[in-house]
Amino acid sequence: MAETIFIGVAWPYANGPLHLGHIAGAYLPADIFARYHRLKGNKVLMVSGSDQHGTPITLRAEQENTSPQEIVSRYHREFLDCWQKMGISWDLFTTTGTENHARTTQDIFLKLLNEGYIYKNAVPQAYCPQCQRFLPDRYVEGTCPYCQFPQARGDQCDECGRTMNPGDLLDLRCRICGTEPRFEVSEHFFLRLSAFEDKLKSWLKDKTYWRQNVLNFTLGFLEGGLKDRAITRDIDWGVTVPQLGFNNKRIYVWFEAVIGYFSASKEWAKAHGDADGWQQFWTGDARSYYFIGKDNIPFHTLIWPAMLIGYGGLNLPYDVPANEFLTIEGKKLSTSRNWAVWVPDYLERYDPDPLRYLLSINMPETGDTDFSWREFLRRNNDELVATYGNLAHRVLTFAYRNFDGMVPSPDNIDSQGRKLLAKAQETLNDVDRLINGCHFKEGMKAAMFLAQEANRYLDDKAPWKAIKQDKQASATSTFVALSVLAALKTVLYPFLPFSSEKLHKFLGFDGSIEANGWQVQSIAAGQKLRMPEPLFRKLDDSIVDEETRRLGAGGSSESKRYL
Ligand SMILES: [Zn+2]
Ligand SMILES: [Zn+2]
Repeated sequence: MAETIFIGVAWPYANGPLHLGHIAGAYLPADIFARYHRLKGNKVLMVSGSDQHGTPITLRAEQENTSPQEIVSRYHREFLDCWQKMGISWDLFTTTGTENHARTTQDIFLKLLNEGYIYKNAVPQAYCPQCQRFLPDRYVEGTCPYCQFPQARGDQCDECGRTMNPGDLLDLRCRICGTEPRFEVSEHFFLRLSAFEDKLKSWLKDKTYWRQNVLNFTLGFLEGGLKDRAITRDIDWGVTVPQLGFNNKRIYVWFEAVIGYFSASKEWAKAHGDADGWQQFWTGDARSYYFIGKDNIPFHTLIWPAMLIGYGGLNLPYDVPANEFLTIEGKKLSTSRNWAVWVPDYLERYDPDPLRYLLSINMPETGDTDFSWREFLRRNNDELVATYGNLAHRVLTFAYRNFDGMVPSPDNIDSQGRKLLAKAQETLNDVDRLINGCHFKEGMKAAMFLAQEANRYLDDKAPWKAIKQDKQASATSTFVALSVLAALKTVLYPFLPFSSEKLHKFLGFDGSIEANGWQVQSIAAGQKLRMPEPLFRKLDDSIVDEETRRLGAGGSSESKRYL
């Protein structure tokens, strides 16, 4: 029975280029998961889009003396290019700037208002006397009252992860001019989060299968009590408030961006000629997964579920496999200090699969992990090239040259060969279970272990030596090795789609890997092989110094792109 899987992935702010932290944190695991489920024959909808309404974007536009739309369009185009080159296989990657998104947001707003989950209140808002304007949360900076981090923002502390209101901060200051803001009364709408505490607690009861860090963070947060949160702000960039007297205010981004999962599903359905087609992914047995970084946990495990409970009739998250952070060369990634590896830069110089490999086998699933160029070089040369790429290349080249470009006929596969073939099937089953449970790092390791086993088998059998005395023995071990490659191209496809597609073609298979499904595709004697090329290229030691020099380099165009 085919399953129905909805995959929502964090909406990147369209105010700067993507970096490796984005890929490791959310986009790569989501893509592995989506590709795997498509191979399984399940119905998959994977959506996200550019978040174009946040204050990071208006701050940026003010800095560059341009319009928010200009900033958003620039980075949205760049995102689309990166996804295509990295192989992130969206069903739809849209933006929060669509008419459809505004309508969907306003519909949810009005329903929650009618149900009494949204209410109006006059509240003091930070106002900068120097800039003569109200300051949205992110325009306010101060010391975190929980962990004393001196640069906490008005909406969240990046150090301890707590969400907050600007008034909670100590030593308040305006982020534009540094002046201490005063508070002036302004009328706003609030989401009555406090009304959902009990419902969220009982919904979370059976989420024992969640990652421990995600569950603990969520329960701890809930234990502290949920505070009602303002969902409108005194800004002019965003979704308009569908109420009279609110012309100068907009729906605030944290409330509206998560609705993007739902509005994007509607947009996708409409584009596919079935306006109600989204329902299969949001109701009944469909399971919804949200791939995000850990800084986004409360928005996806508490606030979005509360909004869904209030709205009614839509599925709540089944799992939120949030990842921890990726550090760069042992230091916390910092866009402002240019301590980051930018995806467009990476793709100018290297292929996508080596990065997908490293970030899979070193994925920050249960704790932070580190990226270093030394490690990238080592993983590429000693593992990807030496273990997998060389295995594929030497077997394919040998078979192509010595057996008339065809898969040779085996005869009496011995116990060692049968054991390896059984291991291939077992690996497929193991990786199946691991990806299904969102254990991507372990899945990648299991797949690579099969490649190691195949190398050991080949070292023992040495078909290139055997061919001189016993051509049939050489044919048999070559057949076994080609069969293992046929398993590897499927098992590795969710992780390394580009090299898997190549291997699929070199092995002489027609059609797509996806059409064959999640199974070891059997290879037939006499099947015509295609002239192979190397799957990966060995990298020179010199890249480590070159790339490390780029890190944190002042005055680069990248660092200027940021605050
Ligand atoms: Zn803090
Ligand atoms: Zn100011």
